[in-house]
Amino acid sequence: MPALELRGLTKRYDDGTVALRDFDLVIPDGAFFGLLGPNGAGKTTLISAVCNLIRITAGEVRVFGEPGDSLLARSWVGLAEQDINLDRFLTVRETLVYHGGYFGMTKREAEERAAEMIRVFDLEAKADVRAPRLSGGQKRRLQLARALMHRPRLVILDEPTAGVDFELRLELWRYIRKLHENGTTILLTTHYLEEAEELCDEIALIRGGRLLARDTADGLRERYD
Ligand code: ADP
Ligand code: ADP
Repeated sequence: MPALELRGLTKRYDDGTVALRDFDLVIPDGAFFGLLGPNGAGKTTLISAVCNLIRITAGEVRVFGEPGDSLLARSWVGLAEQDINLDRFLTVRETLVYHGGYFGMTKREAEERAAEMIRVFDLEAKADVRAPRLSGGQKRRLQLARALMHRPRLVILDEPTAGVDFELRLELWRYIRKLHENGTTILLTTHYLEEAEELCDEIALIRGGRLLARDTADGLRERYD
């Protein structure tokens, strides 16, 4: 069963902009898949459609075989949006526990899972600090931890290292790789070719809301160099 299947996905915004045109894409279970394209290509729109954050104009989304708007499909997807949006009044631990509750975990489950995430993401020293007092790197780590709280099978990372310095980028890559090694399917968008090359098994090139090519990083280099 593929992790994600998009069939004829089309999104026309209210102002008439067509951000995705008849887009087909199948991402296998366990893949580390990159969506690479310039600003305005339609990457965020695609992700928003998969996560039910926008209404699609036409087409179909399936997550591990289930309709994308079903509760089951929603529970299988974890999202780290491009803009980190953390609740400024919640501590690191509270942010995670709250998110667990949102996905139906009991308080106890959520607290245990939050403690685990705090460990995995090296946030112990900041567990009881509120989000605005975290460094940029800590905020990114918390955002990733939040996306993973409910043990999603498919994790979507929208430009996870946009605007971060080189050192933090390497650090985030390390966490993301570990996640993939543990069996999670990853869909990552980026406009950095080197990031897609570094991390992804397979890459889809997207531009103007259409799929231009789908290949390994080496294959793409051969085609476009
Ligand atoms: P990317 O994530 O690849 O930068 P987006 O999906 O954000 O691309 O945008 C694709 C196209 O849709 C762009 O032309 C963008 O201006 C347009 N767009 C995105 N959001 C909206 C919106 N809410 N209303 C109208 N047009 C939008
Ligand atoms: P609230 O209504 O509490 O503000 P949000 O809708 O802002 O909650 O969601 C909080 C965070 O949860 C988002 O920033 C996003 O990272 C994540 N999220 C939202 N929708 C989903 C989803 N369908 N699957 C996984 N994570 C999601």
